[in-house]
Amino acid sequence: MPATEAALAAGTLSVAKARLLAGAINERTAERFAEQEAFLIEQVQALPVDDAKTALDYWRRLADTDGPDPDDPTRNWARLLPGYGGRWHLEADLDPVAGTILKAVLDAIGERMHQEGRFKDLSPEANSASHRDAGALIEMARRASGSDPDRQAVHPDVVVVVPVAALTSGVPDPFNPPLVRDGGPVSLDTVLRLAQLGTVSAMTTDAAGRPLRLGRKQRLASGDQWTALAVRDGGCVAPGCDRPVAFCQAHHLSWWDRDGGATDLENLALLCSHHHHLIHDQKWTLQAGANNTWQLLRPDGAPVDHPRYVGHRPMNRARSPA
Ligand SMILES: [Zn+2]
Repeated sequence: MPATEAALAAGTLSVAKARLLAGAINERTAERFAEQEAFLIEQVQALPVDDAKTALDYWRRLADTDGPDPDDPTRNWARLLPGYGGRWHLEADLDPVAGTILKAVLDAIGERMHQEGRFKDLSPEANSASHRDAGALIEMARRASGSDPDRQAVHPDVVVVVPVAALTSGVPDPFNPPLVRDGGPVSLDTVLRLAQLGTVSAMTTDAAGRPLRLGRKQRLASGDQWTALAVRDGGCVAPGCDRPVAFCQAHHLSWWDRDGGATDLENLALLCSHHHHLIHDQKWTLQAGANNTWQLLRPDGAPVDHPRYVGHRPMNRARSPA
């Protein structure tokens, strides 16, 4: 790794990223790595460490065609093990298609349960994503057992963001791969298999992830608008907040009731209930900047943290040049 060594010595590459680069090499990828070393260094230099890891994992997968295939459903397993005091412990490892479908179904059931107020008596700590997933999993089993025929079927939504270049060329770019929302980067094959399982709505966005068009509709209907917002914001936009889309509400930047703000995408942002509450009841302000950056201001006008970039692309090189 001569170029990596040189970059380390020059102080232009962190030790953590050099380790990640070393981890991308095995006997099957070594030759390709040697050819592309300078390019890979340049790419990871511009990414936060987490994104560099995701990108290099994806690169290794593309380079290592004889390595373990993450898409292989025969490698799936699940175990339900008896635990302490009669409790049960569940663990599983699923291929991208199976896992994405399971996640989408659990999200849809969890959302329905949330709307029915079935989590509202829980303390805020207990009302976590993992607790909600557990509730949804048990509800899924109840529905499958047919013990409550009144329950309606849910309609899970799977959102996959695919760069147009990957679709047209058939070759994904490890530094801008297809991404499942709330999941990870996936192969084009996974994208196509997911697409075959349901009704596909295509949404076009600009380079900053702002929705331009949704299918053939001229105007965005409310359900479409929610999908567009979910893709654009990817969760609560408040700096430092990691609440996912399922826990968010659409906030009107120019308030609906106070300012007569319109329900247009440009006037909406996703916020979790905690941050939504700060703004509406405690005089905090959410400010939109260029390129999907957001800033939260305290009642005295002081900003909280740095402006935050949000969006469907976790690998935004503009965000963290380090
Ligand atoms: Zn939040």
